[in-house]
Amino acid sequence: TEKNMNKIVSLCKKRGFIFQSSAIYGGLANTWDYGPLGTELKRNVKNFWWKKVVHERDDVVGLDSAILMHPKVWEASGHVAGFNDALIDCKQCKSRFRADHLIEDALDMHVEGKKVDELTKIIHENNIKCPVCGSVAWTEARVFNLMFKTYQGVTEDSSSVVYLRPETAQGIFVNFKNVLDSCRMKLPFGIAQIGKSFRNEITPGNFIFRTREFEQMELEFFVKPGDDQEWFEYWRKFTMEFFTLLGVRKENLRLRDHSPEELSHYSKATTDLEYKFPFGWGELWGVANRTDYDLTRHMEYSGKSLTYFDPVENKQIVPYVIEPSVGVDRTILAVLCDAYDEEEVEGETRVVLHLKPSLAPIKCAVLPLLRKEPLEELALKIYHDLKKHYNVEYDNTGSIGKRYRRQDEIGTPFAITIDFDSLEDNKVTIRDRDTMQQDRVEIEKVKDYLKEKLNL
Ligand code: ATP
Repeated sequence: TEKNMNKIVSLCKKRGFIFQSSAIYGGLANTWDYGPLGTELKRNVKNFWWKKVVHERDDVVGLDSAILMHPKVWEASGHVAGFNDALIDCKQCKSRFRADHLIEDALDMHVEGKKVDELTKIIHENNIKCPVCGSVAWTEARVFNLMFKTYQGVTEDSSSVVYLRPETAQGIFVNFKNVLDSCRMKLPFGIAQIGKSFRNEITPGNFIFRTREFEQMELEFFVKPGDDQEWFEYWRKFTMEFFTLLGVRKENLRLRDHSPEELSHYSKATTDLEYKFPFGWGELWGVANRTDYDLTRHMEYSGKSLTYFDPVENKQIVPYVIEPSVGVDRTILAVLCDAYDEEEVEGETRVVLHLKPSLAPIKCAVLPLLRKEPLEELALKIYHDLKKHYNVEYDNTGSIGKRYRRQDEIGTPFAITIDFDSLEDNKVTIRDRDTMQQDRVEIEKVKDYLKEKLNL
C-alpha cells in the first residue's frame, strides 16, 4: 500500500499534477504546489461542488470572505481557548506525535473529546510503543494551539495580533446578518464558501492529506431549531452521494458517526465521511450539527443581534446550523487514489487514471499520426475548433502508442487520431480511454460525439 501511494506521488510529479513546494531550495516540508494539470483538476473539483451545493439549489448562496479576521472572532468561536491538539514526545528517540493519533493507531480507539491528562494516562497505561523506536517511555502530553499567529501593521505587539483562519466557517457566521438582509433569505438556507485555511499541524503528512495550508469547501446550513436533526440526516447522506457522483467507489467510502464521548462541546451530532486511502481510512468530510452555538457566541462577543425573524411564530429566533465541511485537497487525493489503475494490456502494463470526464484536466487529445504537413493542418483545425468548447491538448511528439499512454496516465477520456485516411474520407479515429475501443467518426460529427460521450 505504501508503494501505491509512492506511485501516485511520482505520477503527480512526472505529469504535472502536484510538485513539492520550493523544491529548488530543497523543498518546504509537507507543502505542495499544484502544477498545470493539478490546477485543472482542482478547479473541476471545486466547480463540481459549487454546482451541486450552490447552483443546482435554490436555498444556498455563496460567499468569499477574507482570510484575516478580527481577532475577537477566534475568541468567540472558541479557537483561542480550545483549538488545540495534544502532543507527546518519545523520551528515547525524541519523535513527536499527536496523542490522539497515537492512541487511534495503536488501540483502534477514537478519543476526540478527551482531555490532555486522560490521553497521557491511556498512552502510559497501555504501554503504547513509539512507532519509530519502539520505546514505551513518553513525556506527559501537552496542548498546542494550531492557529497560525501573525501581526498586522508595523508593530508586533498584542494589539496587532491576527490569525490566519483555521476554517472558513467563521467568515460565514460573521456575515450571517449581511447575507440575510441583502439577499432576503428565508429559513432553511445555506451559505457556502471555498477557500484556504491554515493549521499548524503537529504531524502533517501522507502527501496532500494533511498539510498546514489547505483548502476547504464549507457550507453552513441554517435551520429552525427542531428541524436540525432532519437536515443533519439530509447532509449526512448528501456527502456519500456526492462522492459517488465524483466516481469514487462505494466500497472505499464509509460514514462514521461519532460516539457521544467524541462529540465536541458545541455539537449535537457529528458524522465523518471516510475514504479508504492506501495508508488507511481517513476523514474527507465532517458533518456536524453545531446547534445555535456559533451565532450565540458571536452575539455575546460582538454585542450585535444575529437573530432571524420567524414570521410563522412571530418572534426572533437563533437558527441552528448544520455544517458539512470537506477538504479540497483530500477530495483530490481520494479521487486520484480511486482512479489510479495498472492494467495488463497485451503483455504490457498501462497506467491509467479512470477520472470522471467532468474532473479530467484534459477532455480530449488531438493527435496527428505523423508530423506531416497535411495531417497537422487538419489536426490543428480540429484542435482549434474543439478548444472553444473544452480544454483539449494537441500532441505531435513521439510514437502514437507513447502519446496514448501519456493521455491514459493523465486521465484524458478521449484521444482523436488524424491519419492519412482522414484526408480521403473526412473521418478520424476516436479512442476511449477506459475501453481502448476506437470509433471512426466523421470530422463534422466529432463535436456531437464528444458532447454525448463526455456528458459534462
Ligand atoms: P482531522 O481529524 O483529520 O485533523 P478535523 O476533524 O480537524 O480533521 P475539520 O475541522 O472537521 O477536520 O475540517 C473539515 C475538513 O477539512 C476535513 O474533513 C478535511 O477534509 C479538511 N482538513 C482539515 N484539516 C486538514 C489538513 N490539515 N490538511 C488538509 N485537509 C484538512
